[in-house]
Amino acid sequence: MPSINEFIGPKPTQDQVSGLEKIIGSKPCAKCELDSTEYFWDPNNFIMTWTCIGGHNNSLKVNG
Ligand SMILES: [Zn+2]
Repeated sequence: MPSINEFIGPKPTQDQVSGLEKIIGSKPCAKCELDSTEYFWDPNNFIMTWTCIGGHNNSLKVNG
């Protein structure tokens, strides 16, 4: 069993807290013509999320 102290050590970054992997790459927005410049991959839920330059949130569930 890991000690509880291991969880309150150095402050994790936001990405580590959410468990998301930040990936540089453009993704098309479903609501406008603007692309995002990066996206996030949630390996636990198989969901890709990205926000376009216009501020729209997009997500895509990947099956299998
Ligand atoms: Zn958009």
